[in-house]
Amino acid sequence: MGPASSDIDTMYKMVKAGVNVFRINFSHSSHADAEELINNVRSLNKEHDLNIAILADLQGPKLRIGEVEEGAVLKRGDILTFSDKEVPGTSIQVYMNYDRFAKDVQEGERILLDDGKLVLEITETNLTDTVKAKVIQGGPLKSRKGVNLPNTKISLPCLTEKDLEDLKVALKHEVEWIGLSFVRSSEDVKELRRIIKDQNAPSRIISKIEKPEAVVEIDGIIEATDAIMVARGDLGVEVPMQEVPLIQKMIVNKCHKMARPVVIATQMMESMIENLTPTRAEVNDVANSVLDGADAVMLSGETSVGKHPVQVIKAMSKIVSHVEESGQVQTKGENPPRYRNERFITDSICYNASKVADQVGASAILTMTFSGYTGFKIASHRPKTNIIVFTANRSILNMLSLIWGVRGYYYDKMVSTDSTFADIKHIVKEKGLVNEGDMVIKIASMPIFESGMTNMLKISQIE
Ligand code: PEP
Repeated sequence: MGPASSDIDTMYKMVKAGVNVFRINFSHSSHADAEELINNVRSLNKEHDLNIAILADLQGPKLRIGEVEEGAVLKRGDILTFSDKEVPGTSIQVYMNYDRFAKDVQEGERILLDDGKLVLEITETNLTDTVKAKVIQGGPLKSRKGVNLPNTKISLPCLTEKDLEDLKVALKHEVEWIGLSFVRSSEDVKELRRIIKDQNAPSRIISKIEKPEAVVEIDGIIEATDAIMVARGDLGVEVPMQEVPLIQKMIVNKCHKMARPVVIATQMMESMIENLTPTRAEVNDVANSVLDGADAVMLSGETSVGKHPVQVIKAMSKIVSHVEESGQVQTKGENPPRYRNERFITDSICYNASKVADQVGASAILTMTFSGYTGFKIASHRPKTNIIVFTANRSILNMLSLIWGVRGYYYDKMVSTDSTFADIKHIVKEKGLVNEGDMVIKIASMPIFESGMTNMLKISQIE
């Protein structure tokens, strides 16, 4: 979200065109902007009975240079000096917002500026406050551009002081998802988890994979997090860009195995920032991301500052729907639960519900949930049917909007398994989600009032 899309009327049009989650990017949003957006989403949910989720995306340790005079250009072979003092930026010297820069870098390491458009190699560091680098690939040097250091082990914490302040706002408003940028290990995720828990907030974590260290540590990060984002913008600068497509597929497959939703982000419909139609390559990228098995595809500049924030969603929705309706979205290989961990019974029911649903051509899998767990689990098997989740927790309903194939509805009665099943069958028929004669799969915990593990599965026909 951004200036092109933040008014409530545009936001409602975006929802009608297909939005399930709005992202607030704290790299660009003030606290006042964020609160206005949060209020807009909450009002839309209330007024139109929607379950739209909010993703509050923290900036993380994003390195940037300071202001640079107009017209500054770097030429191959030039030496640029980086200082930790706020010096006026020119083609000779520039401020860097990272006070341990001179201590952390080593001679020969690369500095990439402005999404990798400018490439420099470090020739000297005084180990206190100044670093010199030779220009390998030149071009215009512009104010406040991002800096990537693909070979350097950065000693900055994953959550900066700014992030901690932004997080207070996000947690106060109980946003459903927090985006953690530049994650390097599972410890980063656990640290954010501790803060969320201390605040007693319901928010879940999306770990953004955009550093080579995160790719190496991917198993531990997926295990520790609630969801993943393949943040291809920074990732494609930090690792050679030709590696990104295979990393994307590898991460999606691992996320399916571990039942974590996965978001594919950045430059998906980039040309629609200006144009009314996407390029054929962009259409292919969105379609292939859906075929890979993404839970969500994300827009950034296209809707935050682009000229066509509603049309881009319409175009993207058409691609997503067309590919999903082909029935070709599936997981790579079967993923039955193999180990008798404490969730083994629930996991077995979810896996088999997906199998049976495909076998009998069911129109829906219906489930009750307290934590959302069964929604995550069933979706991870990508059954060829709708997953309809009932819960008495509105925050969980919104949170589930991120997940592939899941639709959530509010339901708070707890009389008996039989009466709940009768009720929810009636609700889905009334809402037009299923028709007379359709098969449905219902899963639940029995007895229902114990709120225990999902332990039963029933196949029935809508009368
Ligand atoms: C990205 O780098 O792909 C990304 C999503 O990051 P940002 O939050 O900076 O848009």
